[in-house]
Amino acid sequence: MHPCDFAPAYVRAIAPYQPGKPISELAREMGLREADIVKLASNENPLGVSPLARAAMAAALDQLALYPDGNGYELKRAIAARLGIDTAGIVLGNGSNDVLELVARAFLAPGTSAVYSRHAFAVYPLVTQATGATGIEAAALDFGHDLAAMRAAIRDDTRVVFIANPNNPTGTLLTAESLYAFLLTVPRQIVVVLDEAYGEFLDPDLQAPSVAWLAEFPNLILTRTFSKAYGLAGLRVGYALADAAVADLLNRVRQPFNVNSLALLAATAAIQDLEFIAASKRVNDAGMEQMLRGFQHLGLAFIPSFGNFICVKVGTEQRSAGAIFQALLRRGVIVRPVGNYGMPDYLRVSIGLADHNARFLSLLGDILSDSPERA
Ligand SMILES: *Cc1c(COP(=O)(O)O)cnc(C)c1O
Repeated sequence: MHPCDFAPAYVRAIAPYQPGKPISELAREMGLREADIVKLASNENPLGVSPLARAAMAAALDQLALYPDGNGYELKRAIAARLGIDTAGIVLGNGSNDVLELVARAFLAPGTSAVYSRHAFAVYPLVTQATGATGIEAAALDFGHDLAAMRAAIRDDTRVVFIANPNNPTGTLLTAESLYAFLLTVPRQIVVVLDEAYGEFLDPDLQAPSVAWLAEFPNLILTRTFSKAYGLAGLRVGYALADAAVADLLNRVRQPFNVNSLALLAATAAIQDLEFIAASKRVNDAGMEQMLRGFQHLGLAFIPSFGNFICVKVGTEQRSAGAIFQALLRRGVIVRPVGNYGMPDYLRVSIGLADHNARFLSLLGDILSDSPERA
C-alpha cells in the first residue's frame, strides 16, 4: 500500500493544470537567452508593474518580518472606495484562483454539482473536482457560454454556476442583458460566480453593471484580479465581491494570511493607478488590432476576443497546432496550446507590445509557409 491509495478517488483523478511555459524553462531547454524569448502565453501585462505599486512595495521591504494584515483593511477600503461599495462584501484572495477555490470549498461537497461551460476557464473543473462535487459541462455556443444550456444543466444538487466574462481562453463576451436575464432565472439558493478577470479591457459600454446587481442577487459572487490589467500576476492577489453573509462564509474557509503584505500594498496602490490601467487598455486595443490584421493577412480564422489574448486557428488536416506551437518555441516564442480546452486546432496568444506581436506574426508566417514536415 502507498499513502496515495488512501487519497479520495476524486483527488487522484484530477488532471494537473497546465500553465504557460516559463521563459527560464524554455531558455534552459532550447539553449536560448532569456532576453531573446517572447512570452505571449499567460495573458500577462506587457507593460509590467504599475509604478505606484512598485514604489509601495519598495517602501515596505523592511516590514517583511511581520505577518500581513489578515483582514486586508487598507486594500478592502481602497476597493470599496473605488467601487462605491461596503467593505463587508469583499473577500481577498491569493489571486482570484484562490477565491474560486474558496467558493468551491464553501459551497461544494460530494453529492453536489457545479455547472460551467465547455471551453471555459480550466480552474472551474479543477476546484470543483477537488471537493468531490460533480462538474457539469454545458455545451458552448460559438465557443462562448450558452446561458440557456447552462440554465438547463442546473440540477437539484447544483450549488454553484461558474461564468467567465470575458471567457478565457476563447475571449467571448456575454451581454449585460443576457447575464441579467440569466440571473433572474437561477434559483436564489444557487451561487452564480461571475469571473471578471478581464473586465478592465472592455470598452465602458460593454461593461456589465455587475456591482449594482449584487444588491439584487445575494447569490451573485463577482471575482476580479490584479493579475491582468493591473500587471501583478506574480504577486498573486485578487478578490470577490458578494453579499456580506456569503463573504463571511468564504472568509471562514480562507487561510488567515492568504494575501502577503507586499501584494496587499501593491494592489492598494495599483487600484488607484488609473493612468496605468488606461495605458494597459490602450496597448491591448492597439495590439489586438495588430494581431487581427496579421491573422487576416495570413488568412487565418480567429475567435473575436474581448480579453488581452486571442485564439487563432492554425491547425488543419495537413498541420497540427501542436507542431506550430513547437516550431514557435524553437524560435523563442511561447504561446498557449488549447487542446486541453477541447480546441485542438487553436493556439491562444496573449496580446503583447507591438514589437513582440510583430515578431510572433512574422515567425508564424514563416512557419506556415514552410512545408508541414519542416514546421
Ligand atoms: C487569469 C484568470 C484569472 C486570474 O487568476 P489569478 O489567480 O487572479 O491570477 C481568473 N479567471 C480567469 C478566467 C482568468 O483567465
